[in-house]
Amino acid sequence: MIRSGKFAALGLAIALAAAGVQAAAPQVKTQAPGYYRLMLGGFEITALSDGTVDLPVDQLMDKAKPGTVVKALGKNYLKPPVETSINGYLINTGTKLVLIDTGANGAFGPTTGKLLANLKAAGYQPEQVDEVYITHLHPDHAAGLTKDGQTVFPNAVVRMDQQEAAFWLNADNAAKDPAHKDFFPAAIAALKPYQDAGRLKTFSGETELVPGIRTHAAYGHTPGHTVYMVESQGQKLAVWGDLMHVAAVQFPDPSVTINFDSDSKQAMPQRQKAYADAAKNGYWVAIAHVSFPGIGHIAADGKGYRWVPANYSIKP
Ligand SMILES: [Zn+2]
Repeated sequence: MIRSGKFAALGLAIALAAAGVQAAAPQVKTQAPGYYRLMLGGFEITALSDGTVDLPVDQLMDKAKPGTVVKALGKNYLKPPVETSINGYLINTGTKLVLIDTGANGAFGPTTGKLLANLKAAGYQPEQVDEVYITHLHPDHAAGLTKDGQTVFPNAVVRMDQQEAAFWLNADNAAKDPAHKDFFPAAIAALKPYQDAGRLKTFSGETELVPGIRTHAAYGHTPGHTVYMVESQGQKLAVWGDLMHVAAVQFPDPSVTINFDSDSKQAMPQRQKAYADAAKNGYWVAIAHVSFPGIGHIAADGKGYRWVPANYSIKP
């Protein structure tokens, strides 16, 4: 039935009024707290977001063929600078609470430094953390150890590869890695209160730190860069740190390097080996700079690989 002109006009007026009421609600423009839970056998894994940092990846991957980075980003509906996640991972083994990487403590601006707030939002307190494992001493992974010269995790022992500590805690080495000279004083400051308290304990190469968490030497991105292999009841998760940075580019082509690497020539085969192993064996991978929560699987895809993000679950 066709409405009369009078009723149609009234209907339009009501519709406009309703639209007006909707538009008057202020836009909120915040996200939910940045944590995501996954059970790995008997271990509870909580991915913690430290926030994001905008990376001009087209200028950072200078060993790629001209144009290939922008093209690969475009296939993923991205363009530089790419808003890039910074993720840490909290593991409750049932007897130990272990944090792998601590975020940037705001070192990269106001969109970073959220890890501690998200740890609390996830139901934990920093005092409960027994051990902090550092993949490497770049500030986006280690600056969150310390705030205003004080330990953020007052009861935690901090662990990392001995080569990593030796390199970054010696300010004289800045001459060997001038591109990252600011990272030396940052690493020294982040670790100082733990060292003073006798709570910095390094390890060498491959070892089991607590039952179910083993270290795997993956040197190259930095001199002591370490992957942590987490295993419970036959389920495995590899926490990769910075084996790779730009998913859109480095999954399809693992040979593309980023100039954050101390030694790109050493870092590249580490990445290729890690992709191949994860794809072959089908275990979980957690990656610091893949879109939060950065947990998923790797699948072989033609000459390269493909990221398969974890299927969202409300019942971890
Ligand atoms: Zn990083």
